[in-house]
Parts: sequence; structure tokens; C-alpha cells
Amino acid sequence: MYVVCTEHLEQAIDEFVEVYETPPDLYELEAVSLTDWSVPTHCTFCQRAPKYLVV
Ligand SMILES: [Zn+2]
Repeated sequence: MYVVCTEHLEQAIDEFVEVYETPPDLYELEAVSLTDWSVPTHCTFCQRAPKYLVV
């Protein structure tokens, strides 16, 4: 699972495909409500605020 900014979305997808050999599902963080999970404060690859969830 990756939580990434717009800039690193493509990188997250590439890595996901490499590891799991299947395309990930993408969600906009603001469009999903996760009650038992606190959203990380920054992107997996940088310090920016995350925008997408790649799972
Ligand atoms: Zn980033």
C-alpha cells in the first residue's frame, strides 16, 4: 500500500506492479473514509501531503 502525492502516483503504481504483478486500485484520499486508519501525514516518497491511496 502506498500513500502518495500527485507527483509520485506514477512511481507508486510502477512499484506496486513490480511487487504484486497486478495493477493497483487507486483512491483519492479525500474521497475515502477510513475510520480505523489514520492517514499518514506525508507521501511515501517525499514530505508532501498525500493525495492518493494505492492499494
Ligand atoms: Zn511524493
